This record gives sequence, structure tokens and C-alpha cells, in this order.
Amino acid sequence: MTTVVHRIRVDRPVFSVEFMPPRDAADEQRLWNAIRELEGLDPAFVSVTYGAGGSSRDRTIRTTGRVARETTLVSMAHLTAVDHSIAELRNVIGWYAALGIRNILALRGDPPGDPNGEWVAHPQGLHYADELVRLVRELGDFCVGVAAFPYGHPRSNDLDADTDNLVRKFQAGADFAIAQLFFEPEDFLRLRDRVAARGCDADLLPGIMPITTRKTLAKTIELSGAPVPARIAALLEPHTDPKSFRAAGIDLATEVSQRLLAEGVSCLHFYTFNRSKATKEVVNRLGLVPART
Ligand SMILES: Cc1cc2nc3c(=O)[nH]c(=O)nc-3n(C[C@H](O)[C@H](O)[C@H](O)COP(=O)(O)OP(=O)(O)OC[C@H]3O[C@@H](n4cnc5c(N)ncnc54)[C@H](O)[C@@H]3O)c2cc1C
Repeated sequence: MTTVVHRIRVDRPVFSVEFMPPRDAADEQRLWNAIRELEGLDPAFVSVTYGAGGSSRDRTIRTTGRVARETTLVSMAHLTAVDHSIAELRNVIGWYAALGIRNILALRGDPPGDPNGEWVAHPQGLHYADELVRLVRELGDFCVGVAAFPYGHPRSNDLDADTDNLVRKFQAGADFAIAQLFFEPEDFLRLRDRVAARGCDADLLPGIMPITTRKTLAKTIELSGAPVPARIAALLEPHTDPKSFRAAGIDLATEVSQRLLAEGVSCLHFYTFNRSKATKEVVNRLGLVPART
């Protein structure tokens, strides 16, 4: 089974995509349309997020398994430590292995309900993602990714301590990290510099979401934990018409991605929210799609 690391350490830049488990039948249809649309563009891998509750978790396992079984894509399943004992985590990891999934994004996760609420570990569970990295590694021949935060994790008091914690995840056995959303290429590149300054040369993938609507702008602010920089606000604000806002957002995502590729980034990770169109447009413009013969 091909690993994420095999797919991203190649002699040309590549891209990957992230999906969420579908909530209902209509969502499942939309998700599979997006997967089939993007499959033809040969993404390096596709990942499926892990929800807070039981049924959503089952859907992650099912969806990732189906991607592995029914498509040509390399799949990666997310896994969080939220509300799981170590025994349950072992069980989920066992399911992933049984379905032929060899790539896992190991996360601590957020408290269910209120992501900013107090984090309480399961009494027989884990406290931090580095412990989950170790557990996944112990249980099999998995390729393991972790999360990284260009502006620091919201619960961290300072960037240096947060970077030390990221490096701890690599020391625990993580092969690569995917960054949370950010606005300017420099925000990601500074994270890469901080990691490199600690003598760590692990793969860092920037997380990209084209800002095509005011809703996706609000989502970027929420997830990144940062306010919109003046330059970006000035670029997007004048576009009161949704069509021209979308065009400006696609231009911006293309420009940010081009700068990252020029700085040697090997793989751009697109947050798709189960839609394919914006990602398709940007990767086509970047020339990341293999030519058809
Ligand atoms: C690419 C990506 C994908 C994601 N996918 C999902 C998903 O599928 N499902 C989901 O629920 N959430 C997901 N998240 C969100 C993530 O679960 C939350 O951001 C969570 O709050 C942090 O998870 P983590 O793995 O980074 O935690 P950790 O690395 O454990 O960090 C949590 C906090 O503790 C600090 N810390 C870490 N280790 C130590 C230590 N040893 N001692 C002291 N402090 C420490 C960190 O600096 C940070 O402040 C994703 C995030 C990203 C960036």
C-alpha cells in the first residue's frame, strides 16, 4: 500500500485534498461527485476528517475504506483522542488496518460541543497528539501525519512552545505535518523556518482553502485564529458581487500557492468542504495536473 510520504516526495510539486464524512445521503452523493471529479487530477492522497461523535466516526471509517477499495486514490484517515480510551483507539486503528488504510493523521482533537472549552482527557485515554503518534506507530507499519499551526495553536501561549510541541510530535514518529489555514505565504514559511531552526527537516504541507465566498472567509478567520490582514481585506472587500468575489478568491489562492511552490513546498493540501470546483480551478492554473496523453 502506497504511503503519503511516497506520494509527496517526488520530483515535481503535487497536491492533496481533504474531505469530511458525509452527514446524509445527499451529502454522500455530493462527496462522491467531488471524489470522482478530483480522482482524474491524480491528487497525491485524499484525507477524511474524524468527527466528534459515534456515527460520524463510523462514517469516517466507512468513507476512508471505500476510497481505499473503490478508487485509485491513496487514502488517509484522521483520528482524534477525544472521548476514546486507549483500548478504543487501538480498536479504531485496527479497523483502519483491516480496511487497508496505511496513512493516519494523528490528532488530539477538541472538546465536543465547544472547541474552545476545557480539554478533559478520557480517564483511560491520551492527553496530547504525540502520545497518539506513538500508539499508532506501535500498532503497525503506518505512515503518520500531525497538525501544525502557523499562528500557534489557540491554546498555546507562545509560538516557541507551540513549535517545540510540534517537533515533539515528529520525535514521537510523525512523518509529516499539515498546517491549519493561514492568509499569507510568509505566515506558513515562518512556521517552516521555526521548525527548521530546531534541526527538524520533516515535510510540512500548507493547508489551502480558496476564499470563494464571505462564508469561506469567515471559516478561514475561525480556523486560522487570525484576523484578515489588511492586504487581503483590500483585495477582497471591493467585490460586493459574489461572482467577482469568487474570482478574486481564486486569484488569491493561486497567487499564495505559486509563492509556496516557488519556496520549494512539495505538496499543497486543499480543504475542499466536499466540493471539487475551486480546488480543480486552482490546481489546473498551477499546472499541477498531469497532462493527458
Ligand atoms: C490539518 C488538520 C486536520 C484536522 N483534522 C481534524 C479532524 O479530523 N477532527 C477533529 O476533531 N479535529 C481536527 N483538527 C483540529 C485539531 O484536532 C485541533 O486543532 C486540536 O485542538 C489540536 O490537535 P493537535 O493534534 O494539534 O493537538 P496537540 O498537538 O496535542 O496540541 C494541543 C495543544 O497542546 C499543546 N501541547 C502539545 N503537546 C504538548 C505537551 N507534550 N505538553 C504540553 N503541551 C502540549 C500544543 O501546543 C497545543 O496548544 C485538525 C487540524 C488540522 C490542522
